[in-house]
Amino acid sequence: MSPAPDLGRKPRLGYTESHLERAAELRTDAAAMARLAADAGAGAYVIGGDLMVLKKAAPLNQAMFSLAQARELAPAGTIVFLGLHQGAGRFGFGIAPAAAEALKANEEFLVTDLRSIAVQGLVDAEHLPPMAEAKAVLHWHLRHRYCANCGAATLVVQAGWRRDCPACKAEHFPRTDPVVIMLAIDGERCLLGRSPRFVPSMWSCLAGFVEPGESIEDAVRRETREEAGIVCGRVKYLASQPWPFPSSLMIGCFAEARTREIVVDRAELEDARWFERAEIAAMLARKHDGGLTTPPPVAIAHHIIRAWMEGEPGFD
Ligand SMILES: [Zn+2]
Repeated sequence: MSPAPDLGRKPRLGYTESHLERAAELRTDAAAMARLAADAGAGAYVIGGDLMVLKKAAPLNQAMFSLAQARELAPAGTIVFLGLHQGAGRFGFGIAPAAAEALKANEEFLVTDLRSIAVQGLVDAEHLPPMAEAKAVLHWHLRHRYCANCGAATLVVQAGWRRDCPACKAEHFPRTDPVVIMLAIDGERCLLGRSPRFVPSMWSCLAGFVEPGESIEDAVRRETREEAGIVCGRVKYLASQPWPFPSSLMIGCFAEARTREIVVDRAELEDARWFERAEIAAMLARKHDGGLTTPPPVAIAHHIIRAWMEGEPGFD
């Protein structure tokens, strides 16, 4: 293998390393919840569907509001207890998507999607994990107001971490959807693809949902074969990332390619091809002759590709 290039300091993976202690034991403690909500140090992230409400400030915008300030912005649909930061409560304050949209007209606020906030660094990075937590669980509430078993309206319990059906007594929990995202390796080359949704210059790892009854390893092999026609052998896990668009967990892996001829599934991908190390190094450094790039450091794909350049996964 070629020597690992010096890629500089490793960037932080977006939405990970939360500073919050989730303190799940407090979710059923109504007195503790009331005390935390009334505390002057309580903070809330205000979210309406895909839109996050920030208070404009320089150099970084303000991500959190007091609960009183949040209530002045719009009535809360659902409030979720996210956890504790140095003893103070942190909450997700869900407002109607239309109310968030309406706040765009107010010059005091910046109302935008979480992806833009993360990629453009619009708030202190420490807010990204709790914002992801709040966005994912509030999205689940918006889409799960009725019992999946009997159709009755359900009630929010456990500080936003469960919905109970008063009719059939079913308990419903917020879900997370596992997605495998992988880099297939053929010696000194790796396989990247392009989705039609990507910005024109960007190439990334292949990815797909894990299906019921499927292991992570089998999902990696199936998706790589379906999307690019490449048969893979060994699979090695690298890292994972919450991906609240709307509620996925990205499971980052390497896969050992056993075949070389690519057959692109045009329904899924615009294109896929092998990339040599030198080309990937140029893409990571944003110095590619043709302007091609890898995904930004906020995304796990960047970290998987970079880890390969630095010597992972060692299949050889
Ligand atoms: Zn029910």
